[in-house]
Amino acid sequence: MDYFPVFLRLKGEPCLVVGGGEVAARKAEALLRAGAHVHVVAPALSDEVAGLVDARKLTHRKARFHFWQVRGYRLVVAATDDMATNRRVYTACRKRNIPVNAVDAPDLCTYITPAIVDRSPLLIAISSGGDAPVLARMWRARLEGMIPAAYGRLAALAGRFRSRVKDSVPGFDRRLRFWEQVFEGPVATRMLAGQEPAAEAALEETLAQAAEDAQTPLGGEVYLVGAGPGDPDLLTLRALRLMQRTDVVLYDRLVTPGILDLVRKDAERIYVGKRRNLHTLRQEGINELLVRLAREGKRVLRLKGGDPFIFGRGGEEIASLAEEKIPFEVVPGITAASGCAAYAGIPLTHRDYAHSCQFVTGHPASNGEIDLDWPSLARPGQTVVFYMGLQGLPIMCRELMAHGLPASHPAALVQQGTTAAQRVLTGTLETLPRMAEEHEVRAPTLTIVGEVVRLRDSLAWFTGDQTVTDVFGTRENQP
Ligand code: SAH
Repeated sequence: MDYFPVFLRLKGEPCLVVGGGEVAARKAEALLRAGAHVHVVAPALSDEVAGLVDARKLTHRKARFHFWQVRGYRLVVAATDDMATNRRVYTACRKRNIPVNAVDAPDLCTYITPAIVDRSPLLIAISSGGDAPVLARMWRARLEGMIPAAYGRLAALAGRFRSRVKDSVPGFDRRLRFWEQVFEGPVATRMLAGQEPAAEAALEETLAQAAEDAQTPLGGEVYLVGAGPGDPDLLTLRALRLMQRTDVVLYDRLVTPGILDLVRKDAERIYVGKRRNLHTLRQEGINELLVRLAREGKRVLRLKGGDPFIFGRGGEEIASLAEEKIPFEVVPGITAASGCAAYAGIPLTHRDYAHSCQFVTGHPASNGEIDLDWPSLARPGQTVVFYMGLQGLPIMCRELMAHGLPASHPAALVQQGTTAAQRVLTGTLETLPRMAEEHEVRAPTLTIVGEVVRLRDSLAWFTGDQTVTDVFGTRENQP
């Protein structure tokens, strides 16, 4: 992040605009909207600025700029068309630690002004840090279209009720839910329909109900959510919605940082990543933790890579919730097999090459063997996808050949599929284990075995970012 976003309170504060042209007029108007006392220094004024002066909206000093003039101001804008003057304004402000912005000169700015969507008191600011102002403006236009004007009145109504809600609805979590109910329920609907008195009445009613409910314990619930294979764009809308309303999130190493970033910022984050060979113990701990947090009245998000019901132990996690009668919901995610296959250009089924597809795990047991139905996996005309198969890759390939597949049978390994660090190695049952050893492959990886792998030669489309080698990172040491 190159800039730290803040909203400045400038009501009644003295602000200086240096320059009297059209740009200065726009800047002065923006400051006036925020309630600032605006002074303009310029030897001459455009009609626009002169109009503002005549209307007594701002004051004017008819003069050239001098260093001492910035003294005492909270904020300064250099809006002259003379770069040397703008530079002098900048230098004067820097000396006195006054925030300064010179129009169209990023080097002469200690703050920049974002594009805004103004539904005051709801205010949305968008910035590209000066790199792509057109992009920022495009987003502004999109948001303008998405946010009805009445949202400002809704926010103002909320503001009027804020302290009463604080008094009658105890606890942060309870209040959070109260406001969600207001902004997603009948109060918002009425306000957006232009019925402000009805909206206010509905808010009174919601508040009375919430005050009554405050006597009973807050009910917790659990959302078991599939986060997909890594690319945040592959989240479902429902996953995203629940990620925004959770109080606490339990995640493991298959959830990429880019996805975790989309979880509500003030939700508590608990890393429950498993280490190899400690599965059972950790799993029980996670099940218990889910129950305990929900009992405390929390909305708990259990975020899992891929799909929670595919090699995700999701069934076990909700079994304990069901036993304890804790409400839960399950949100499917794109499983690694479909994500990796799509992004690697390898269709899992194909009329000419594979009429079925099996998902299995290639994780070796403690005796070093992989206990699978090899004769069934080695049948031709199908695709086999091995999850958790990096360590066991040599055994997998050996067994498939031993059970009848030719050494030349195509196989691919997808590293960190769908992410910037995606790499795809294609070879055969004979060559793939050695290739994996030669390339420094990083988990998680998925192995796809079948004739369909050949299609990648013509169907590959996703390149990832060659400079990125790892997006999952190793979180083994997190608390
Ligand atoms: N529930 C998950 C699977 C969990 S098992 C799902 O539906 O995808 C963990 C295994 O999934 C990893 O060992 C790896 O084989 C696979 N995997 C998960 N994400 C992956 C990714 N982005 N790229 C490659 N393999 C991945």
